[in-house]
Amino acid sequence: MKLETLEDLLISELRDLYSAENQLIKALPKMAKAASSEELKSAFQEHLEQTREQAARLEKVAKQLDITLRGKKCVAMQGLIEEGKEQMSEDMEPDVMDAALIAAAQKVEHYEMAGYGCARTWARQLGHDEAADLLQTTLDEEGETDKRLTDIAESHVNEAAGSAP
Ligand code: FE
Ligand code: FE
Ligand code: FE
Repeated sequence: MKLETLEDLLISELRDLYSAENQLIKALPKMAKAASSEELKSAFQEHLEQTREQAARLEKVAKQLDITLRGKKCVAMQGLIEEGKEQMSEDMEPDVMDAALIAAAQKVEHYEMAGYGCARTWARQLGHDEAADLLQTTLDEEGETDKRLTDIAESHVNEAAGSAP
């Protein structure tokens, strides 16, 4: 598909985000399982629920714009997840593993924030205000998740990891 307009670019980005969210729906349960901190485990589990809603929200956006979302693979998310998996397969102290999981998850959230931020701005510019509002809702959730992960890291995980043998 040749991208000729900003509308085309928006559609391509929405498909990319949809693929990213669906990949995360598969990855987050594994991250929750690998986490030792109860707080981190529940942060991952709650974000899994949120991620399912975000995928459904994208379907709503697609309906509004009368487009389909299938057919694109977000290779960046594939890479981020692969890198996370590589780390999870290493022999790590549980607290150090938690710190690594937080870092991997924050890389994911930042990628999503960049994608949703651009898509929101393009949608707004193209006059798709309802779509822009939905994308903003997800952008806010990704930002809150990122902040929550920082709080978990700073409140106890990093300290525990720093005193691991
Ligand atoms: Fe998401
Ligand atoms: Fe992507
Ligand atoms: Fe997210």
